[in-house]
Amino acid sequence: MDRKELAELIFPDIKDVSYYEEMYPERNLPEGAQVLRVAPSPTGFIHVGGLFQGLIAKKVANQTGGVFFVRIEDTDQKRKIENGAEEILNAFQEYDIIPDETVGKGNYGPYIQSERMDIYKSYAKKMIEEGTAYPCFCSSEDLDKIREDQTKAQERTGYYGKWTRCRNMPIDMAAERIKNGDPYIIRFKSPGNPDKKIRHKDVIKGSIEFPENDQDIVIIKSDGLPTYHFAHVVDDHLMGTTIVTRSDEWVSSLPLHLQMFSVMGFKTPKYGHTAPLMKQDGDSKRKLSKRKDPEAAVSYYTEEGIPKEAVKEYLMNIANSNFEIWRKQNPDKDMSEFEFDLKKMGVSGALFDMVKMLDVSKNVISKLSAEEVYNESYKWASTYDAELKEMLDDKEYSLKVLGIERGNAKPRKDIAKWSSLKESISYMYPDKFDKNTVFEYQKITDSDEIEKIVKSYFEKHYNEADDKQTWFDKMKDLAEEFGYAREVKEYKANPDGFKGHVGDISTVIRVKLTGRCNTPDLYEIMQVLGKEEILRRTYK
Ligand code: GLU
Repeated sequence: MDRKELAELIFPDIKDVSYYEEMYPERNLPEGAQVLRVAPSPTGFIHVGGLFQGLIAKKVANQTGGVFFVRIEDTDQKRKIENGAEEILNAFQEYDIIPDETVGKGNYGPYIQSERMDIYKSYAKKMIEEGTAYPCFCSSEDLDKIREDQTKAQERTGYYGKWTRCRNMPIDMAAERIKNGDPYIIRFKSPGNPDKKIRHKDVIKGSIEFPENDQDIVIIKSDGLPTYHFAHVVDDHLMGTTIVTRSDEWVSSLPLHLQMFSVMGFKTPKYGHTAPLMKQDGDSKRKLSKRKDPEAAVSYYTEEGIPKEAVKEYLMNIANSNFEIWRKQNPDKDMSEFEFDLKKMGVSGALFDMVKMLDVSKNVISKLSAEEVYNESYKWASTYDAELKEMLDDKEYSLKVLGIERGNAKPRKDIAKWSSLKESISYMYPDKFDKNTVFEYQKITDSDEIEKIVKSYFEKHYNEADDKQTWFDKMKDLAEEFGYAREVKEYKANPDGFKGHVGDISTVIRVKLTGRCNTPDLYEIMQVLGKEEILRRTYK
């Protein structure tokens, strides 16, 4: 028997690779166009790092006029969950990281690995014919024994070189065992010599050097499914990926992957290995953890009501630190106009900081119109907060509330997420404001003095029809009447000459009407509350 017959015995009725090579011709793309992908596994947990990968891959593809696709890697049957693929695709959809090709669209599919079995078999068959792969009959006990012997001899563990048992098995013997029904897997026959070094230029990490691979890794498992390594090489070859961006947990497999591309006669793509997102934990940094950190899950942002634009903006901040400066210089430009550069990604893990994320979110929300804030928060509240939804059900009034200090040069920046909106605006709703609550005042705390100030303001000065300047002048008159400076600077120049300044007086009115020392513009608040409600809040 020869290798071709052995291959036929293992993979009968499998098409020749030429069939697939013709079916998936090289992509006809303009010079410089790059093809990138993300290849998530449907494990039921969508990590924010996955979104990060998608964002940068899509960005590079778009910037170069190339292609971005999503491939679902579902060959690990143990980790796979029902609807996992759908959930991933929905998450990308929700974040507008829309692939050009994925499950259900594109000419290089199927884009889900479990539907590509015949393709993997075809390439494995070819490798057996060529003698670059072979069936291996070692049981797990055999492998344990090899590992034990290696440990005793103080040698590297693994299935390689002189330690292999099936690598040089005569073809007839292998065929005999297969016919006998002995269980087996398929291994790659590595031509590597670890005494030799290879050098590789990673698009992100720069030049890296490592020993050649000599491990005869498994390419087809006993369940007939391919391993990640094999599927990666076959798929990224057939799908025409030009830059493989992936997390740097894979960098140690790079010598193997480079070797496989070369042994299989495929053009090697470029690689860019991204550092993990890190979290500050006390004095040290660690990887953002799915177990410990709720913010590691994409679902967290949906539940918290952090707008997707904010999440993406923040991720871009982490991806390229110069994005922050660009954003300052171009506050109104769409993120798509930012020139992203894989080479500028950090090689040590970027710190993922929720405080910073919420700051970005405050900025993003500050630029939205009242109508946009209304629509987004209403959508969120409909699922997550019945009380907020009820408040917002009064659309006309809510639009006025949300319009306070919005749409001007210095918009309000106190809202970071929809889940904190209720707290930010509740006092504007009559039935959420209990005037009998004992409020905390700031500088002026004497209740008699407070009552006098309030009484005088509403009896002598307040007029709903006043414009902002008149309103403010009257606030100053009120200050003067009670021995407070009309201007802050006047008070600062002569602190002994006054009890305080106009700000202390307006704070009294502010707290009386809102229950808070800090709010957006009081004049606007009063305009929205309206006279009737203001007087209700004022008098006992
Ligand atoms: N399925 C692999 C993972 O989820 C993908 C790695 C890659 O992008 O090649 O880690």
